[in-house]
Amino acid sequence: MNKVIVIVLGIFLFLSCKNETVNESDTKMNDNPLLAEWNTPFGVPPFDLIQSEDYVPACREAIKMHKEEIDKIVNNEEAPTFKNTIEALETSGKMLSRITSAFYAVSGANTNDVLKEARKVLSPELTAHRDEIALNEELFKRVDVVFNQREELNLTAEELFLLEEMHKRYIRSGVNLEGAQKERLKEINKRLSELSTIFGENLLNETNGFELHVTDKKDLGNVSESLKASAAEEAVKRGKESGWVFTLQRPSINPFLQTSPNREFREKLFQGYALRGDNDNKNDNKDIIIEMANLRLERANLLGFRSHADLVLSNNMSETADAVYELMDQLWPSALEMAKKDRDALSEMMKNEGIEGDFRGSDWRYYVDKIRTKRYNFNEDETRPYFEFNSVREGAFMLADKLFGLQFKLLDEAPKWHEDQQVYEVLETDGTHIGVLYMDFFTRESKRGGAWMNELREQSNIDEFITPIVTNNFNFPPPTKDTPSLLSFTEAQTLFHEFGHALHGLLSNVKYGSLSGTNVPRDFVEFPSQVMENWMSEPEVLALYAKHYITGEVIPLEMIDKMNEANSFNEGFRTVEYLAAVYLDLDWHSITEPVEKDVRTFEKEAMEKIGLIDEILPRYRSTYFAHIFSGGYSSGYYSYQWSEVLDADTYNEFKKTGDIFDADLAKKYRKMLSDGGSKSGMDLYKDLLGRTPEIESLLKKKGFN
Ligand SMILES: [Zn+2]
Repeated sequence: MNKVIVIVLGIFLFLSCKNETVNESDTKMNDNPLLAEWNTPFGVPPFDLIQSEDYVPACREAIKMHKEEIDKIVNNEEAPTFKNTIEALETSGKMLSRITSAFYAVSGANTNDVLKEARKVLSPELTAHRDEIALNEELFKRVDVVFNQREELNLTAEELFLLEEMHKRYIRSGVNLEGAQKERLKEINKRLSELSTIFGENLLNETNGFELHVTDKKDLGNVSESLKASAAEEAVKRGKESGWVFTLQRPSINPFLQTSPNREFREKLFQGYALRGDNDNKNDNKDIIIEMANLRLERANLLGFRSHADLVLSNNMSETADAVYELMDQLWPSALEMAKKDRDALSEMMKNEGIEGDFRGSDWRYYVDKIRTKRYNFNEDETRPYFEFNSVREGAFMLADKLFGLQFKLLDEAPKWHEDQQVYEVLETDGTHIGVLYMDFFTRESKRGGAWMNELREQSNIDEFITPIVTNNFNFPPPTKDTPSLLSFTEAQTLFHEFGHALHGLLSNVKYGSLSGTNVPRDFVEFPSQVMENWMSEPEVLALYAKHYITGEVIPLEMIDKMNEANSFNEGFRTVEYLAAVYLDLDWHSITEPVEKDVRTFEKEAMEKIGLIDEILPRYRSTYFAHIFSGGYSSGYYSYQWSEVLDADTYNEFKKTGDIFDADLAKKYRKMLSDGGSKSGMDLYKDLLGRTPEIESLLKKKGFN
């Protein structure tokens, strides 16, 4: 559940994404639709015309164009001004950013061999290009001149913020480094980019390469009919004569672990998941991790920071690793204690069933499900009939209407990258166009795991107002022959979460694209998405959308109450597996000496230090921790927790007004979304609530105080 951050170290600044008609001086490139004018509704990418083979040549051409724009800025004979340097830099590279935005969206959500190869080829080239700009001394000199005059320039707050951020990033990018050091930095960035691509590919191969073939019906336990059907279809697809195939995709593995009475099968699936990237085969990620951790340390040192975490966090709302450890340490003991209590109860239940041996991690979900059924008489699959995916999407739209007066209109004619997508035009109540939202719901092999949002075009308003185009991507169970896609409550929550990111992008109203929408510090970016999850389970919101897909009956409130009770039962586990991954991330990136031990030992020691119990794995073990080794979240996985403090605190303010749609607060909230990243995270927060964040609401929500 993340907002994809594709660029390392925030050098993204130079590749702000806008979409304007391009002067086609080079007619021979006309046959590449990526470089041509986009005659599509609201200028969305012409996905119907773009071939996978078009990306590499188009990107290379756009890099060339961007270089020319940069040269023009550098060689400008006029003295540097805000307009001819800062704004010119901000608006350069439009063509490149519109192409890479489309490329990252498609290669994440609907990849193929050509796109995979393109990613491998382009990733180092793009990094090299960004480095060239970020390390361009002549360019920096101009920026520096403007920066030093900033007090006298009568800049608006947003202009000043843009200038300061740009200057800061220049310094952090290593522009002040001398000869050999600078060359080394470029090498490191290039290598890191390659490694992170390989890491992701290995992980995808490992995930797709595994299967659990079940042939005896009794081993299925009571998995839902829809999962049974898709597992049977999967078996056919994989050439089995009969039976069901379960995979390591979350919609497949989690329900199986919850319900299959076959303990050895559960263990096999669990281990299959837990050992991804750690099988000592050609997809092994261990050496990659060591190399990445050490290169990140070396880069941080080159730039004058003690560790990679120090480098990354200095740009976040939290500012230091100590502040993060401090927050985690406030949550960890209560969570661990709660998880231990749960483990003892689960383990006792297993013994009472006459099962010998130690209680294992692969038993956890099964007995949680049993206790839930026994103690709360609840199974999350019971919620599925009430969360047909179209209704849930409709619920999210209605919430956006209630809070912000937004309207959504199906844009059937918009080109798509996959036929399952739905595209919407987003409008104000009065019909003013706001932007376009692409939604891609179902799991498939060509899509990476998880759920995420990204932007095809950022909002900006320099010479004209450019409206945003954003995407939401999910891995929901696809419909089968007999049933529509029915989401669990948790999956429905994911939809609202990603939709929150989408709104952040859509409601943006700033001048500069690089400060728009979700271009906020990493530990702030999950706040607007997580806060949306609060509304979706309120009775008055559920009444709007959570209706049985056959009978139309609204989900009974007793079921929600029961679910909330049942869910809070496993809160210790959830917090522990999440925080364990946070500690792991921070430990990998707080190193101040190169790692010499192997990954397994490093991980074991990190987990022993916090006293993690054997029956719980970190939510991601290192070898499949894509957030930090192939996404943009290194030293940033804690962000979800940090944002959760903000989210609980803010929603509590809505509750305190006595009206969860309180118009006044909703207006302030929308203002915060529309300010995007044009202010620091703390300033945005203070504008919203008139004070700094407080942790009490979160502790209460989790039952920790
Ligand atoms: Zn998210």
